[in-house]
Amino acid sequence: MRKIGIVGAGFSGAVIAHRLATHGYQVQVFDNRAHVAGNCHSERDPETGVMVHTYGPHIFHTSNEKVWRFVNEFDEFMPFVNRVKAIAKGRVYALPINLLTINQFFGKTFSPDEARRFIELIGDQSILEPCTFEEQALRFVGRDLYEAFFKGYTKKQWGLEPSKLTANILKRLPVRFNYDDNYYNSTFQGMPKHGYTFIVEKLLDHSNIRLQLNVKFDRTLAAGFDHIFYSGPIDGWFDYGEGRLGYRTLDFEASRHDGDYQGNAVINYCDVDVPWTRISEHKHFAPWEQHERTLIFKEYSRFCGENDVPYYPIRLADEKSLLARYVDLARREHNISFVGRLGTYRYLDMHITIQEALETADRFFVAQQRGEPMPAFVVEPLQ
Ligand code: UDP
Repeated sequence: MRKIGIVGAGFSGAVIAHRLATHGYQVQVFDNRAHVAGNCHSERDPETGVMVHTYGPHIFHTSNEKVWRFVNEFDEFMPFVNRVKAIAKGRVYALPINLLTINQFFGKTFSPDEARRFIELIGDQSILEPCTFEEQALRFVGRDLYEAFFKGYTKKQWGLEPSKLTANILKRLPVRFNYDDNYYNSTFQGMPKHGYTFIVEKLLDHSNIRLQLNVKFDRTLAAGFDHIFYSGPIDGWFDYGEGRLGYRTLDFEASRHDGDYQGNAVINYCDVDVPWTRISEHKHFAPWEQHERTLIFKEYSRFCGENDVPYYPIRLADEKSLLARYVDLARREHNISFVGRLGTYRYLDMHITIQEALETADRFFVAQQRGEPMPAFVVEPLQ
């Protein structure tokens, strides 16, 4: 088995393509867009010279040393720590919730232990096993912080009451009882000097890889390959026969200004009456660069229609049962593996996507060596 088709030139597809090509496989990569790197695509704005994250902010962070070493082979990672600010009820705070946020919000001068005790006191201890986003927030930060930072933002981001969402969305965000305002807990964090698209182009730059952009891949094209790695939407592979899996999409309202617009890469707007969720000022993602002008994105979230770009899988009970039907269909297919955010319908950060893509390639080599079929999923999508 030597001829492999890969659908999607985002991180999943590009990492698998790279690993297979270096192992001697002939790989053809298809993407329906005019560029590689999927939603991580970055390009310079011709007017300001600023590197723009076309599909919204992407900050690279991981605690997996293998993944960190891997990405560093393809570009130099420049020091960058995501320090998000939040505006709530006319005041600016630091996120994630940390000792400064707590002290400023409640007008206190708590030590770490005092703050921990205070938050325990205001947290709703009667919620023993939080299931929903709201229960998780009420249990761990109490009503006041929940209503200031999470309730409105989450309603705008997901178009749903936090009482309808699952707790694991909030579990992405730490609460800290010290002054560490790094948005992530990861060991490694940084920004690629030349952008994410540069990395993906390098991953795909191999004599065994043929890249075809602007191609909508379908079953008729699959016939020419021994195996397909598919990182497109799983429901799309089955022509949405069971129905469409729900996503949120984003709209960006771009504008250019002189100098410094907001003094930080990301500012969240937590109040529900402000229609955007956050503003990203892209030159602050590259603090090693100098630009006189600046470009900002106001970010708005809404339900993803048929012709929109899917971003965040919604994954509520209805979507999960629909997903289960597609997973069942996928397991009955032959010579195709479903990978990545769209292929497995999961909310994945870049580092997890890359880690899973590396594992998928390794799994493929093992299957080849043993003469076994490659499974439809290397990672269980229903977890
Ligand atoms: N969130 C919130 N307020 C904030 C930031 C995040 O309520 O100021 C919630 C929101 O529901 C969001 C989730 O926490 O979807 C995860 O946030 P994260 O910043 O990880 O989202 P991403 O950067 O992936 O959009």
